[in-house]
Amino acid sequence: MKSRSRISQEKQIDGTLDNLKLNDNLSSIFDVHIGTWIAGLLSLLSLAAAISWPYVKLSRNFSSHLLEMKNVNDYFIINFFVFCSYTFQYVMTAGVLEYTNPKGFASKKLTDEDRERRKRQIRKELGLGIIAMLINTTYAVTWMYFVEPYLWNAGFFVKRRYSLTWFLLDVIVYGLIFDTWFYWTHRALHESTYLWDKIHVIHHAFKAPSAFCQDAVHPLEGLVQGAMGHYVAPIFFPFHPIALAFFGLFTSCFAIAAHDGRMGDLNHHYAHHSKGKGRLHNFNYGLYWPLWDWICNTRYHDESETKSIKN
Ligand SMILES: [Zn+2]
Ligand SMILES: [Zn+2]
Repeated sequence: MKSRSRISQEKQIDGTLDNLKLNDNLSSIFDVHIGTWIAGLLSLLSLAAAISWPYVKLSRNFSSHLLEMKNVNDYFIINFFVFCSYTFQYVMTAGVLEYTNPKGFASKKLTDEDRERRKRQIRKELGLGIIAMLINTTYAVTWMYFVEPYLWNAGFFVKRRYSLTWFLLDVIVYGLIFDTWFYWTHRALHESTYLWDKIHVIHHAFKAPSAFCQDAVHPLEGLVQGAMGHYVAPIFFPFHPIALAFFGLFTSCFAIAAHDGRMGDLNHHYAHHSKGKGRLHNFNYGLYWPLWDWICNTRYHDESETKSIKN
């Protein structure tokens, strides 16, 4: 017969083993299954967006504005909804690109050590990205609530027909103004030692970025180069609200793809990360196209670099 103290000792050991197993399981969840994390995050975001959706009021007239915000309650619900749906889009697009990337965490070409390193990097990118997304979407909804209705061009297309010519003009004006804003704010982040040390160095910590790196920035950089840049063009030119929302979404997808480096990276932003050397020895500051990099002679493109990313 076992003594009482022996039984309690065995229970203790069993309990410790159970705890160890639990800890092992937990740490394996945190350390290994980055794909599970991404899928879980997607489910959570889609659930949150679905729950808030019935409270989101759409405008009766999309030519004037998209979302109806009559009070602070509406403002917070829309804020929550826009954050969830935009973050869902970010995680989804970046997740698909990363999963199919030959250098991605799911690739069989990676050694175990490289895979772990890639997973650690994605966790960092994702964490920074979600914070930047929260600040960006809050700025966007705040702009829609407090500023947009009072601009000179508010409701410009309520009484005017939105033709193909207007749409093409919107594409050109948005593309030019956004990219000009992006190029010069990005240059400032490199030219100023203070801005580089305090802000931009965070984004450049990723020498071989994954698609998740799009928003892996200091929150202030995310705001200036994201939502603030998006709302510069509509101050000067009339934009149809649907076209403007589409441009915002397109810019986000474009920037995600630019960090993946395999497609749509017209100005070789991937090389800006991988080949650029620190603050001043850099190039390819524009996002969409190489217009300002050509004008200012800050363009670099190495065909073999693009090929190595694709293989
Ligand atoms: Zn940079
Ligand atoms: Zn970047």
